[in-house]
Amino acid sequence: MKRITSIAAALALACTAVAMFAGSLMAQSGPGVYGACAPEKQEIQAGALPEVVDEDRCPVEGRVISDGGIGAVVPEPGMTVTADATSTDGHEHLTVSNPRGDEILLSDVGTEPSSRASSLESRASGPSPCQDSYYSSRGYKVYKYNRWYANIKSIPGGLSKSGAVTAMKRGGANIFRVEDSCGIRDRVKGELRYEGGTSRSVDINSNGTCNANDGKSVIGFGDLPQGTVAYACVASWVVNNAPDRVASSDIRLNKEDYGWTTRLRASCSGRYDVESSVTHERGHTFGLGEAPEGSHGNLTMSQDSNGTCQASERSLGRGDAKGLNSKY
Ligand SMILES: [Zn+2]
Repeated sequence: MKRITSIAAALALACTAVAMFAGSLMAQSGPGVYGACAPEKQEIQAGALPEVVDEDRCPVEGRVISDGGIGAVVPEPGMTVTADATSTDGHEHLTVSNPRGDEILLSDVGTEPSSRASSLESRASGPSPCQDSYYSSRGYKVYKYNRWYANIKSIPGGLSKSGAVTAMKRGGANIFRVEDSCGIRDRVKGELRYEGGTSRSVDINSNGTCNANDGKSVIGFGDLPQGTVAYACVASWVVNNAPDRVASSDIRLNKEDYGWTTRLRASCSGRYDVESSVTHERGHTFGLGEAPEGSHGNLTMSQDSNGTCQASERSLGRGDAKGLNSKY
């Protein structure tokens, strides 16, 4: 009896070994799978992929496409995700689109050029805001309205909760009401509707990745990679022959590495203004892209923040306003 048992055990072991061998062979050499998409790689490096990724050659479901410190979980068929990181010295942007579920389209892969003349320079360079008509546009917009929530418990202890929510609301309104200092009329037809507090977290990871989106737009504070002050993820539905329709847009402000304020007093030191940061990120929600920092640094949509203890980005420049009006 004992002997039979051990023969059976030996047989079972042998079978397992054969199965493992066969498994590793298949994993290694699935015909045509891009090297960057090998099954053991949970994160797929965008730079190692073609701009159009055949999903048969890259089983991407549930995996993260990464690019220069930012990334996004591949969205469900029919959707696009755009990730934007606002940093102290540069900016990263990545778009991952899954229009039909058979191929993934990547754009803005690679490090965006940091055009700031000197990182010690605190004043932005370029024409004054009302003399600068530059804007760049993304392929999506807010149709009618987007409902959003604030993750109240994430608001840092030093800030009044209601004050922080007010600053978030104002940041959004600065965009959809086109609050510029140049006298340009508001022609934006989309708007934001605040629905209250939520305990749900933003769909953004501390490592700077847009998670699979849950369809709920949330603004909150939390951790982000060192150097990243704020981060926005916009999920949109692909629309044929018209701009894609924003489904949800999450924003995280980095409270682990940076201080925040909602009221700029003379005593302010080293704190970023919540309303200014949210204004820039809401520009992304409404479909604006970045303006190059070196030549258009006074626009709200310029790549980098104009720094702490100032509120210049609350007010839109000519290009920001024109860019919004041109989409709606
Ligand atoms: Zn940005």
